[in-house]
Amino acid sequence: MLQREISRPIYLDYHATTPVDPRVAAAVLNAMTTAFGNANSVDHLYGEEAAALIDIARSEVATLVGGEPDGVHFTSGASESIQLAINHAARQSRSSGPLRVVMSAVEHRAVFDAIAALEGIGEASVRQVPVDSRACLDLDALKDACAFGADLVCVMAANNEVGTLYPIERVAQIARSSGASILVDATQGAGRVPMRAELWNVTYVALSAHKMYGPKGVGALVTAPDRKVRNSHSLVRGVGDGTPNVPGIVGLGEACRLRRLEMEVDEVRIASFRDRLETLLLADIPEAVINGDRANRLSGNLHIAVSDVPHGAVVARLRRRVALSTGAACMSGAQTPSHVLKAMGLARRLQEGALRLGLGKFTQEREIEEAAHHITEAVNATRRALAVTKS
Ligand code: PLP
Repeated sequence: MLQREISRPIYLDYHATTPVDPRVAAAVLNAMTTAFGNANSVDHLYGEEAAALIDIARSEVATLVGGEPDGVHFTSGASESIQLAINHAARQSRSSGPLRVVMSAVEHRAVFDAIAALEGIGEASVRQVPVDSRACLDLDALKDACAFGADLVCVMAANNEVGTLYPIERVAQIARSSGASILVDATQGAGRVPMRAELWNVTYVALSAHKMYGPKGVGALVTAPDRKVRNSHSLVRGVGDGTPNVPGIVGLGEACRLRRLEMEVDEVRIASFRDRLETLLLADIPEAVINGDRANRLSGNLHIAVSDVPHGAVVARLRRRVALSTGAACMSGAQTPSHVLKAMGLARRLQEGALRLGLGKFTQEREIEEAAHHITEAVNATRRALAVTKS
């Protein structure tokens, strides 16, 4: 067992997913083995107990993002939440024509795909808002796009590749002043940066448990009071309530509770580790470029690019030592250039040398120097190998 622990690579891919906090796992286990009732069978204590646990989770999710418990709809993850929100918005605007969507150019694939599906059947039209070289949104362009007419504005809380944070309160003001609803994909931001959905007038917030030390396969869509619906399935016409995933929902709720209590302290520590890693890497690889908005990014994000050093080769060399990625989880391995880096105008040679490092709550201080050493070695070894091939 100890041997396995020692040989496991350092985990620096917290944007892809996070390990489950053992306290969350304990709550999930309890909901599977002791409080295992069917929350729809409220004729006895077991069902009542499960239903009460769901209510607690609902309240924790709402509190974390500043919404109302009644607005919380449990889903299988952020992708489903995003789809629900976009389809719900489309249904609301159907009588007046296709859904007019304004979205940032760096949204997650889940947003692009859900909108493309509607576009394909003539039920949506899209305007993309550009970002600058740090992936910051052009707010004037957002205003202009909204002025053409918008029903739904989609802007993420934090970017899953380069970590840039978005000014959601300001974006929501712009959206609302043109009469549009706003969907915030808070998958990377929830539990890392404060969210005040109701105060900021946000219509839909999507989030996922596995990005905040909870289990996979469960998430939530939080809707504003003016879109209040009793349960997730009432957003989907004609589908009734199935048996809720009580353990998953309990895990999500407990993860949200712990994030609310611990996020502030955790994020300061994580940022200090990230800064140390950044300093070490820049000292050893001075030509490396740091992407994203260094003044306003996720604490755990470090996105670096080394020109002419193919990232696939670096990641392969690091396979047994450091777990990191070349881009978003849904893109890595696909050899497709990142739409985020393209939208930022990053030179092709840098795009191909991009490495996404993600630190989190369980990253240890001692892992930082070790990871920096291994990454530097892998970059240098890749360079040497390329030089031999070319000579
Ligand atoms: N949105 C963002 C910003 C993400 O990073 C992810 C996952 O990588 C998703 C949406 C999809 O989340 P899920 O895996 O819960 O469907």
